[in-house]
Amino acid sequence: MSLSGKVAVVTGAGSGIGRGIAQRLARDGAAVGVWDLNLDGADDTVRLIGEAGGKALAIKADCSNAAEIKAAADRTRAAFGAINILVNNAGIAPFVKYLEIDDAQWDRIMAVNLKGPHLCIREMLPAMLEAGWGRVINITSSSTQSGSPMQGHYVASKGGLLGLTKALALEFAPSGVTFNMVPPGFIDTPMLRASPIDIDGFAQSTPMKRPGTVEEMGAACAYLASDDAGYVTGQTISVNGGRYMGSA
Ligand code: NAP
Repeated sequence: MSLSGKVAVVTGAGSGIGRGIAQRLARDGAAVGVWDLNLDGADDTVRLIGEAGGKALAIKADCSNAAEIKAAADRTRAAFGAINILVNNAGIAPFVKYLEIDDAQWDRIMAVNLKGPHLCIREMLPAMLEAGWGRVINITSSSTQSGSPMQGHYVASKGGLLGLTKALALEFAPSGVTFNMVPPGFIDTPMLRASPIDIDGFAQSTPMKRPGTVEEMGAACAYLASDDAGYVTGQTISVNGGRYMGSA
């Protein structure tokens, strides 16, 4: 896919899936704002992109904080120009028994996984509308399709992001700005390795008998970010090895 001349922001791009997406968008020609809470991780992503001949800038930003988003967007625009592609990837995914989720845990997960994407979209959408071209890609979760025990707050936050994606896809359909989502199945990342899930054991129970890779997530996002996906909005590309075959 050619993304030459485009400017992308990927949140949570200092690790795992976000890093894979940032590397792929940069390889396809986009200049990439690599945003993360973890600046060391973001720096590593930028180094990897630079070594491959791409252009990227590491920025420390909490995607649940409007002031930090604004500052990060201003720095990205100053370095590369108007932002055309936003990938809302940053997320947290704790496992807690439902009756033990306290209010602070509930509020934090909603702030990062649901309000964060809303704040990033609100910051970047006006310029996309003005340009008549934009791509918003939300990384949701296969757990919104299948459910996931001990993750009531997480699945609710990702389900909210699914709803937001569809609502905005319709509201802005004539504008040239598209809104789509990529729910990962089990992708081998630090987040998954830190979870109680036995990835390798679980992989054997999936149709493809392996976890997915961050490169496979990057490929789906590269398509949705491209001109080729201009008539695709409000849609879901499930990168899950065949684990779930429903539409949402
Ligand atoms: P990861 O390896 O933990 O990477 C997530 C990155 O986001 C980390 O660098 C993390 O920083 C950063 N981050 C967390 N909170 C942030 C915030 N408030 N602002 C900015 N950055 C923040 O996780 P991953 O597996 O790549 O997951 C990426 C996305 O895919 C998440 O939205 C996740 O819910 C979704 N997902 C993943 C899977 C999977 O199989 N891996 C499955 C379903 C959905 P810290 O390390 O400092 O926290």
